[in-house]
Amino acid sequence: STAIMWFRNDLRLHDNPALIAALEHEQVIPLYIHAPEEAEPYAPGEASCWWLKQSLESLETALQEKFNLTLQIRSGSSLAAIQNLIDLHDVESVYWNRRYEPALRRVDENIKKMLNADGLQVKSFNGSLIFEPWEIENQQGDPYRVFTPFYKRAVQMPSLPLQQLPDRQVTTFVQVGSKNLTIADLFLTSTFRWYNKFEGQWAIGEDAAHDRLMEFVNDDISIYKDKRDRLADHATSRLSAHLHFGEISPRQILHVTQQYKHDQNERNDGAIEAFERQLFWRDFGHHLLYHYPQTQDDVFNQKYTNFPWQHDDELLQKWQRGETGIPLVDAGMRELWATGSMHNRARMIVASFLTKNLGLHWLDGARWFWNTLVDADLANNTLGWQWSAGCGADASPYYRIFNPVTQGQRFDANGDYIRRWLPELAHLPNKIIHAPWQASTNDRPSDKSDTLSPDYPEPIVDLAESRKLALERYGAWKDNA
Ligand code: FAD
Repeated sequence: STAIMWFRNDLRLHDNPALIAALEHEQVIPLYIHAPEEAEPYAPGEASCWWLKQSLESLETALQEKFNLTLQIRSGSSLAAIQNLIDLHDVESVYWNRRYEPALRRVDENIKKMLNADGLQVKSFNGSLIFEPWEIENQQGDPYRVFTPFYKRAVQMPSLPLQQLPDRQVTTFVQVGSKNLTIADLFLTSTFRWYNKFEGQWAIGEDAAHDRLMEFVNDDISIYKDKRDRLADHATSRLSAHLHFGEISPRQILHVTQQYKHDQNERNDGAIEAFERQLFWRDFGHHLLYHYPQTQDDVFNQKYTNFPWQHDDELLQKWQRGETGIPLVDAGMRELWATGSMHNRARMIVASFLTKNLGLHWLDGARWFWNTLVDADLANNTLGWQWSAGCGADASPYYRIFNPVTQGQRFDANGDYIRRWLPELAHLPNKIIHAPWQASTNDRPSDKSDTLSPDYPEPIVDLAESRKLALERYGAWKDNA
C-alpha cells in the first residue's frame, strides 16, 4: 500500500510520528507543498523563507540517503496537490503532524474532510509540542490563561516517549510524475537581498539542530540561568528556528536535558529547569493561539479593545532601522537585521519601547518581526508582543515600561552588546554608552569633545517624558475600561 507523508513544520526524520506511521506502508511519497497564500495573513516572511529553503534541502538529502526517497515538491493549492498524487498512485493513507496557526488549521480540517469523503485514511499527530493544546486544562476543564499554573500542570503530565525510526531499511521508491518542482523553484533568490548576509551565520537542518543542542548542553546549560539575560553572551540555546521548522522536537530536547540532569547527579538542576521552562513557554504560546485564535491580530485582554496605539510610518521606520537614538534599542534592531535573530531581553526592550515609549501599535512591531526573524513563529511572536504591549493573557503589567538605559547598565554592563551592533558608539566609555545624550562634557572622550558621535542620531523621544505619557495613557484606559 502507498502513503503520502506530508511534511510541513516537521522537517526531520527522527521522532517524527507522522513519518514513522507512513513508513509502515510499503510505499511512501514524501511531499512538501509550498502554499504561502494558505497561511494568509501570516504567509512566511522573508527571513523564514531563507531558512526554510535550506531546511528543505537538508531534509531532501536526508530522505534520499536514509530511505532512497525523493521529496516531492509542489506549489499551489495543497488539496489539489495531494489529490493529484492520489489520482496518479494508489494512495491509501495521508499522514501529517498538526499545525496550530488558525488559517492552517482550517486548511488541514478541510483537506481531512475532503479526503475522508473520498475514502482515504488521514491521520494527524503531535510532532511539534510537548503536549497538545487541548491536553492541558484546569480543574474546570478550561484552557489556562496564566503561565505558572499551566506549567505546574504540564510538568506533572506523563510525556510521550520518543518515537524511533524503524530499524529496517525502507527503500521504498515511487515513480512520481514529472510535476516535481525543485526547492530552488519555490524561492526566487537574488544576490542583493538583505537576508543573504545571514549566510554562514547559521547551520540549518536536523543534524545541525542536534549539534547545536549538544553544544549548548555541554557548554552553556549550566550557566543558562545566570547568563541568559546577558545581552552580549551567547548563553541561550539558539534553537528557536530549529524548533519552529521542526528540525528538532521539544521532546527530543527534553530527553537530552533529562539525561544530562541524571548524569550530573542533580548538580545543575536549577539551570536545567530554567531552560526546560522556556520550552513550556513555547507550548503555552501554542496553547493560547489554539484556544484563542483571534489573538493573532486582536488583543487577548478585551479591556484593551480600541486602545489608542498609533500608526506612524516615520517613527516605525526609525525603530525598524535602529535609528531611534537609544543605543540599546538600536543595537537590538540592528542585531535583528544583521542576523535574523535578537536576544530575548532585547526583544522585550524594543517591544516595550515601540508600544509604550513610542505608543505605536503592537501589530506594527509584530509584523516587522514576522518578516525579519528566522524563528518567526505566530504563537510565540503573538505571545511576546501582547505580553510586551500589556494586552496579552499573562501580560507584563501596563506600568512596567522597560528603561533601556538601566536595562543596558544591568544586562550589558560593559557595553559589549552596544559596541558590537553600533560601531559608531564603540569609542564611548562605559559610563555614557547607554545614554550618550546625558553625558556631561567631562565624560566625553577627549578627541570627540564636540560631538559624541556625528553618525548617531539624537533620541527620537525623551525617555522620561514618553514614559510618563504612556503611564497616563494606560492608566486612564484602565480606569475607564
Ligand atoms: P532559549 O532561551 O534557549 O529557549 C529555548 C526555547 O524555548 C526557544 O528556542 C523557544 O522555542 C522557547 N522560548 C524561549 N523563550 C520563549 C518565550 N518567551 N516565549 C515562547 N517560547 C520561548 N520566539 C520565537 O520562537 N519566535 C518568535 O517569533 C518570537 N517572537 C518574540 C517576540 C517578542 C516581542 C518577544 C519578547 C519574544 C519573542 N520570542 C519568539 C521568544 C524568545 O525571544 C525566543 O524564543 C528566544 O529569544 C529564542 O532564543 P533561544 O532559542 O536561544 O531561546
